[in-house]
Amino acid sequence: MEEFSYQDGELCCEDLPMSRIAKEVGTPFYCYSAAHIIKRFRAYDQAFGDRKHLICFAVKANSNLVILNLLGKLGAGADIVSGGELFRALRAGIPANRIVFSGVGKTTEEIQAALDAGILMFNIESMQEFHAIAKTCRETGKKARISFRVNPDVDPKTHPYISTGLKKNKFGMPVHDALEAYREAKRNPHVEITGIDCHIGSQLTQIQPFLDALDRVAAVVQTLNDEGIQLSYLDTGGGLGIRYHDETPPDPGKLIRELIKRMDANGLQQTVIVEPGRSICGNAGALVTKVLYTKENSGKTFVIVDAAMNDLPRPSLYQAYHDIWHLNQTSNRKPCLVDIVGPICETGDFLAKEREMPLPAQGELLSVMSAGAYGFSMSSNYNSRPRIPEVLVNGSEFRVIRKRESYEDLVRIEEIS
Ligand SMILES: *Cc1c(COP(=O)(O)O)cnc(C)c1O
Repeated sequence: MEEFSYQDGELCCEDLPMSRIAKEVGTPFYCYSAAHIIKRFRAYDQAFGDRKHLICFAVKANSNLVILNLLGKLGAGADIVSGGELFRALRAGIPANRIVFSGVGKTTEEIQAALDAGILMFNIESMQEFHAIAKTCRETGKKARISFRVNPDVDPKTHPYISTGLKKNKFGMPVHDALEAYREAKRNPHVEITGIDCHIGSQLTQIQPFLDALDRVAAVVQTLNDEGIQLSYLDTGGGLGIRYHDETPPDPGKLIRELIKRMDANGLQQTVIVEPGRSICGNAGALVTKVLYTKENSGKTFVIVDAAMNDLPRPSLYQAYHDIWHLNQTSNRKPCLVDIVGPICETGDFLAKEREMPLPAQGELLSVMSAGAYGFSMSSNYNSRPRIPEVLVNGSEFRVIRKRESYEDLVRIEEIS
């Protein structure tokens, strides 16, 4: 998060004081650092060395077209989980042959659109989905490139809502079922077996679960190989964590080097696909908000800000911790224990709970840190709040890459009577 720092007492994104953006676009808004995104992408990319690879950015982490376009120009592909994300990735200029399609509930229309576009591969999560894809291919004369998502039953040691690779989770297929699936796929003329895939969860802060999952996948690859089923791509998913508070996740380069070492040890020669989301853009973004009021209720201090759970749902949804910094660094505030809350009519509407911090005054600006992933992309219009603008900083310049929604935008596709 070095792209966010105080310069002369003012919080800057790269070389731009964030208060200057606030003056122009109002609050609240999302502020992203282009340099951070580029740096994190390159950390992945360079760690692969000569090894054939494709970095498919997980579009659900941050779906803004300018950010997808920026990553696409660096050579990124996209990991998509819906027809809407396919549309966005293509619109942003990411070539179809760098797109992989994950998710347990692909509809016929989404399958059709992905076949028409000619994506690199479908990461299939069930036999019924396989049959749906094969049927669409049969009807349209297209051939689908496929991989099956293995559920390796590995505990990623993360929040239960974002762990996906345990056998009790809805994702992927158990090893035994995946083997059967490949055998059936081999007999089906409408599909081309292309790869294998797994993704065990999000915000992982240790490397070991990735390696454990890779070992399980390697065993499947070996068995398939013995049966004459060869795979070109090995997709190890995303999920590398970032530092929100006091976590110490490995950096992307270290993860990739360890994964490659383990692949070599397992004799795996496939082109490697990774699907990072959070670890590319999470610490590239902050949510800037203004203090509307402060108040005390029975000894508890509340700081009421103009951003809310609809703008950044992570604290309410996962009890997630986000650092909160003052835009203006002064020493004359008194330390206090506060809840930072939004204007939404829900007790669950908070950005921070029982946070020790210097008490901000009415009208002051705060920055909710590490909000570049699963922030704007999870935002909603709840309480009829227009979605807030996104701004991209480059050096000492900024650009609005998504405008603030208007009240008219809220009702544009609605009937009155
Ligand atoms: C969400 C998701 C990712 C990205 O996860 P991060 O934790 O943001 O890296 C990658 N692959 C799949 C299949 C996902 O569902």
